[in-house]
Amino acid sequence: MSQSDIRFEKVSKAYGTLRVVDDLDLNIAQGEFLSLLGPSGSGKTTILMMLAGFEAPSGGTISVGGRRVDHLPPHKRNMGVVFQNYALFPHMSVAANVAFPLEMRGVARSEIEEKVTRALDMVQLGAMKDRRPVQLSGGQQQRVALARALVFEPSVVLMDEPLGALDKQLREQMQLDIRALHKRLGLTIVFVTHDQSEALTMSDRIAVFNRGKIEQIGSPREIYDQPRSRFVAQFIGETNLVEGTLAEAGDAGATVKLDGGGTIR
Ligand code: ADP
Repeated sequence: MSQSDIRFEKVSKAYGTLRVVDDLDLNIAQGEFLSLLGPSGSGKTTILMMLAGFEAPSGGTISVGGRRVDHLPPHKRNMGVVFQNYALFPHMSVAANVAFPLEMRGVARSEIEEKVTRALDMVQLGAMKDRRPVQLSGGQQQRVALARALVFEPSVVLMDEPLGALDKQLREQMQLDIRALHKRLGLTIVFVTHDQSEALTMSDRIAVFNRGKIEQIGSPREIYDQPRSRFVAQFIGETNLVEGTLAEAGDAGATVKLDGGGTIR
């Protein structure tokens, strides 16, 4: 097991009688880009909040590199977060916003400036360091949020719909930027989205969620070409894929081989 492999074992979360995450088993390898994809209300954000430490599981365990983290406070988990509702501080400069997590962690003043400069250069915003968030475009603000998530050099970054508010062109640019950073820094990224095409283009693997459970997990190709259920097929946008495949096999009188060696006629 690598140092930052993430493991959910039998994790559940209930709010009162509402069970929003149900007995979740999930492994995320170090350096992997995993998207959690599913309709609104399927539990994706709750999973990220439990991983980040903002919510406690009702049951089960979460570990990183074999070490339990589910009772650690967020700043002890070494995970960067870019959440839609986790906005920049409007009264602080770009540089002060990015410095904030370092100050929270008690990093020495002398190191802060250098780390902030490096993080802002990484997202190509070095020239904007003295501006206030309001003086930046939406895309630039998201880049600052990304710099703030990366400044303390986490090995894991959690992103919850980070590009939802951007227009198409900026969103595509940021998708490329995030992919490039993921590769260059060897980051583990857990990326929540309800946008199928975003998940398909960005991820190493996709976990498709339905009502707090994983409906299917696999590479974008597998999810797209071999949806395991009608729910996945419909969510991915190929509504006729499952029926079509079976109907065609039947029409042609074809034999469909099963993994176990059995056949259906
Ligand atoms: P998703 O990210 O897939 O949209 P969420 O994890 O945000 O889903 O929410 C899953 C379900 O949990 C929703 O029905 C939501 O209303 C409910 N929920 C989330 N947070 C709370 C909370 N703090 N209290 C009560 N219900 C919540």
